[in-house]
Amino acid sequence: MKIPANLTTFCPYCNKHTEHKVSNYSPGKRRSLAFGNVKFENKLKGHGGKRAGKKSVKKQGKRQVVVLTCSECSKKQMRVYIKTRTKKKIEVKR
Ligand SMILES: [Zn+2]
Repeated sequence: MKIPANLTTFCPYCNKHTEHKVSNYSPGKRRSLAFGNVKFENKLKGHGGKRAGKKSVKKQGKRQVVVLTCSECSKKQMRVYIKTRTKKKIEVKR
């Protein structure tokens, strides 16, 4: 699915419609030594038998998120473009 590189949409910071630049969202790298991650990895080790926290069902796709950057205040907002989980990928037209 292709979307245009520039959109006119509502900016909650300017409180009006402004031009926005569209870019792909890429999540940052997860810290492997963060407290929650260490705790979760220890949980997966388990004590034999069933492993608590281990997922048996894998999700089939992801929600496609884009980042909109306002041209006036240069604040960013994220928007889910396809509302359901899909395998379709978003392309930004250049
Ligand atoms: Zn703005």
